[in-house]
Amino acid sequence: MKGILVNYEFCTGCHSCEVACRNELGLKRGEYGIKVSEIGPWKYSVPVKSDTPFEWVYMPVLTRACDMCEDRVAMGKLPSCEQACQAWCIYHGEIEDLVKKMDGDSRWVLLTTKTAK
Ligand code: SF4
Ligand code: SF4
Repeated sequence: MKGILVNYEFCTGCHSCEVACRNELGLKRGEYGIKVSEIGPWKYSVPVKSDTPFEWVYMPVLTRACDMCEDRVAMGKLPSCEQACQAWCIYHGEIEDLVKKMDGDSRWVLLTTKTAK
């Protein structure tokens, strides 16, 4: 099964993936194949096991429209979101391979879709 792995430690919230995906899928403004969520900012009121008391991250999430760029990948190209990401924090591939990148030194999220084969 194919998936999208995001190292959200390094996501800058630039939204380039959203725009590239929208163009790829021919979606209208306000529609998304991938949507970047913003969590924070806030400062925790109690101690947390972290190197900072502040929370502020961006997390890309796949929507139902994502088809894992099947046509592009079949041609040997990267998915549009991965190609557009200036932070190089999106990876596409077999989930078994992607899982191997997930170390304990950074923050990752692995995403799949119903149609991902
Ligand atoms: S893999 Fe393709 S369809 Fe899926 S979010 Fe990325 S650009 Fe959009
Ligand atoms: S293009 Fe990359 S850095 Fe920019 S919002 Fe998307 S995942 Fe984050």
